[in-house]
Amino acid sequence: MNVLKFGGTSVGSATRIQNVAELITKRGKNIVVLSAMAGTTNTLVEISDYLYKKNVDGAKEVINQLETKYQGVINELFSTEEAKDEARREVKSIFNYIRSLSKDIFTLFEEKEILAQGELISTRLMNIYLHEKGVNSALLPALDFMRTDKNGEPDTHYIRQRLTALLDKHFDADLYITQGFICRNAYGEVDNLQRGGSDYTASLIGAAIGADEIEIWTDIDGMHNNDPRYVEGTSPVAELHFEEAAELAYFGAKILHPTCVLPAKLNNIPVRLLNTMQPEAKGTVIYNCAPNHAIKAVAAKDNITAIKIKSGRMLLAYGFLRKVFEIFETYQTSIDMITTSEVGVSVTIDNERNLHHILDDLKKFGTVTVDSDMAIICVVGDLEWHNCGFETKVLDALRDIPVRMISYGGSNYNISLLVRQADKIAALKALQSTVFTSAE
Ligand code: ASP
Ligand code: MG
Repeated sequence: MNVLKFGGTSVGSATRIQNVAELITKRGKNIVVLSAMAGTTNTLVEISDYLYKKNVDGAKEVINQLETKYQGVINELFSTEEAKDEARREVKSIFNYIRSLSKDIFTLFEEKEILAQGELISTRLMNIYLHEKGVNSALLPALDFMRTDKNGEPDTHYIRQRLTALLDKHFDADLYITQGFICRNAYGEVDNLQRGGSDYTASLIGAAIGADEIEIWTDIDGMHNNDPRYVEGTSPVAELHFEEAAELAYFGAKILHPTCVLPAKLNNIPVRLLNTMQPEAKGTVIYNCAPNHAIKAVAAKDNITAIKIKSGRMLLAYGFLRKVFEIFETYQTSIDMITTSEVGVSVTIDNERNLHHILDDLKKFGTVTVDSDMAIICVVGDLEWHNCGFETKVLDALRDIPVRMISYGGSNYNISLLVRQADKIAALKALQSTVFTSAE
């Protein structure tokens, strides 16, 4: 059995829902995880914002607009009056529930409930649509099996047990539909796996049932070897190692949510990235593939700040780095890249919220300089240190671009370089022509 996850854009309109229905029906008895229709979760966040600000009227206006949108989807999606009536009833009861939560007293508890409604709607519409088409699909309520523990981590034992029981109960179904993103917490309250968390749901389900494969269906044909927004001639990477995917996901290759990688990797279940618009395309498969001594992909991350702390006190001293890192910990700011010399250390952060506090404290230890508006360029592949030549290639590509930091050796799969954000596109293009085009 496979797990197939479709993101918000893939179910973003009545026609898209119909396409996905056709695709999953052909694929047989699998578990299908759906996101909310594109834009819905953002709208639910907006509704919550109004409610936090005690503007109940504002919230109700947005609720009405969203409900009208769904009425339009229902009219377009279904052909029989029975299906339309059933869908209208379902959607009405969900919106009435959202309204019942829209009061002056609004807390995290109500917000989580509201955020969960997007996936509840999309899966119910899909299930009714499949029934209309004569498909015997079963809707597995994620709130009945997806749960986190007291540390906010997935309760894998519980998930496996409850999911297996649900599958047994619906053993005669043609296929299964469930909600991505939503879960319950250790106290049984409605919660979620963070924004973009549907990929994580798919991966957790895959791990729980020992799936053959986890398929993440989006609107691009796999993970590209460079950023198609800035670089021409990028192509999908056929195979990636889990470790390579983890590096890329973090550095802004938005296609796969970073958390998704771990459960699949630990359970050795391949994750395949596929395109709803082009279902025949091969996409990218992520698994524990054999190393192939190649650079696979390049990605970039913007809005990076580099901080350099130079101090004579660092020379031959121990404990200096700990003191520096503690300052970042105190201000809950995570460090991305690090480079060191005997007398100085440079780090990067992507969150400037507490920058002035951090700088104030760092100045107790040395001379501090800051470079803002920087970008990390991340080169990913089988870069084990015994493989010769790839560092030269990467640096050669960037020969005309000022490089502020270089970091290699943190993993066997990545070299990170820090450049000015203004040079990012030039760097990505240069890497494309030097690393990929000339190698082919
Ligand atoms: N609907 C949720 C979001 O927009 C979860 C997801 O799509 O993965 O964040
Ligand atoms: Mg997503």
